[in-house]
Amino acid sequence: MAARGTAGYSSAGAAGAPAPTRVPERPMSDRPLPAEAHPLPIAVIGAGFSGTAAAIQLLAQLPPGRPVLLCERAERFGRGRAYATGNPDHLLNVRAANMSAFPDRPSQFEDWLAGADEAEGIRRTSAGTFAARGLYGRYLSELLTAAVTGPGAPRLQLVNEAITDIAPEDGRLVLRSEGGRRFPAAGAVLAMGNLAAPEEPASRHRADPWNPDGFGRLHPDRAVLVVGTGLSMVDAVMNLRRHGFAGRIVALSRRGQVSTVHAPAGAWPLPDFSAGERASLTRLLARIRREVAAAAAVGVGWHGVLDALRPITDTLWLGLPEAEKARFLRHLRPFWDVHRHRAAPPAGAAIAAEIAAGTLEVRAARLLSIEDRPDEALVTCRPRGAGETETFAVQCILDARGIGRVAETADPLLRRLIGRGLVRPGPFGIGLDVHPDLSVAGEVTGDLPAPLWTLGPLIRGVFWECTAVPDIRNQAAQLARAVAERVRG
Ligand SMILES: Cc1cc2nc3c(=O)[nH]c(=O)nc-3n(C[C@H](O)[C@H](O)[C@H](O)COP(=O)(O)OP(=O)(O)OC[C@H]3O[C@@H](n4cnc5c(N)ncnc54)[C@H](O)[C@@H]3O)c2cc1C
Repeated sequence: MAARGTAGYSSAGAAGAPAPTRVPERPMSDRPLPAEAHPLPIAVIGAGFSGTAAAIQLLAQLPPGRPVLLCERAERFGRGRAYATGNPDHLLNVRAANMSAFPDRPSQFEDWLAGADEAEGIRRTSAGTFAARGLYGRYLSELLTAAVTGPGAPRLQLVNEAITDIAPEDGRLVLRSEGGRRFPAAGAVLAMGNLAAPEEPASRHRADPWNPDGFGRLHPDRAVLVVGTGLSMVDAVMNLRRHGFAGRIVALSRRGQVSTVHAPAGAWPLPDFSAGERASLTRLLARIRREVAAAAAVGVGWHGVLDALRPITDTLWLGLPEAEKARFLRHLRPFWDVHRHRAAPPAGAAIAAEIAAGTLEVRAARLLSIEDRPDEALVTCRPRGAGETETFAVQCILDARGIGRVAETADPLLRRLIGRGLVRPGPFGIGLDVHPDLSVAGEVTGDLPAPLWTLGPLIRGVFWECTAVPDIRNQAAQLARAVAERVRG
């Protein structure tokens, strides 16, 4: 669904000066919203999967008179970073069977796929069915279209602008847009997705891996550098190839680990972890290794054991002492990431074929500096375990490292929210801090007259396992229940 401007909503005048607020800290969810003759909307900022799912759940759970305002800065709603791609080789990295937008209707996406054209990008493999991510974006757009045009439709209002500030004002929140419009709201849901990593070291030869417009003009005899070797690197390689670049690609990360690939995993029961195992990373890891060995002995792959952990990964994370979480982030995270976030088999096979042919070189090295020349960049790195540095020339650099930290973000909305004390960095500086009911924890949020909530990859530091659809859809339903309870007082 594409939209420009505002659908079904009148703005309330020009932007005014932000008013600082400082009130004692306490969870926000214990104060009912004031009763209103014409209820203000609950605003959702961001219409990727998190915002779309939250808006749809809010429409279902809020009292009938309460509107929902969905704000998106990109041209299309219901896509976000993951599902805006038009490249049919960009496949979902989660089986279609697990990609329904609704926790209580788990087969909904698979059922929807049955009516789609196979040629649009449906790949059936022995490890399950994987659809093109653009096709999934269409599924989300259709859900949103149904919400905009369905019964009680005027309750969902779309604003196609970036929201650049949110401030408490006269017992409500006021959202300000890039174009200077003001949108009063009774509460707001932050659904802005992953934070972009800072583009360092700077270079004018950097290009966006997901915007392949210039890829066809790259010289076939000169290398392209991809920084990062995970799933985003897979995306970058797929875009380079689909858009005509046939030359050598060098992908580089500190450990040079490439994502594993989905396999036809047998089912494995959820291990019954003891309290001691739940409190110690070493014991937890030892137990998981024993489970993997036991599974292998009866012909079940490690994939099955990791999949069994999925429903309780957030609980395991929440239960670990802070020092153990820090150890995980320092030592285990790269290994966890490549085993937990797996590529679809066709994508994995394409990457393996590139590596075997030497057209994709994956290196374990630390990127030290980039020196720009008129037509190329000189990249200096230190290979893992080596004392000497190496320098090589590339014509273009694609940054596929993924996620940035709150402290480094240049996002104007987040910077202002941090400045007002309305949000604060989450544990270990990852994402935002949040209460268990998904209301945002900030320095001054305790007595905020209207609540702020959040979900999805933005709260990864608190829950860890909340970046993919199967987890976010649960959070969207939980969040909508909490907002509805608060609205009903
Ligand atoms: C390339 C990629 C592939 C992935 N593939 C899968 C997959 O196959 N399966 C899976 O389960 N998960 C996948 N994921 C994980 C992904 O994080 C989630 O599935 C989900 O898409 C996250 O959605 P989101 O809405 O939180 O974030 P995003 O998709 O980043 O959406 C955030 C939206 O907010 C908008 N926005 C941000 N700031 C503002 C503002 N100030 N004002 C207005 N709008 C704003 C942005 O324009 C964007 O549309 C993938 C992630 C990536 C990056």
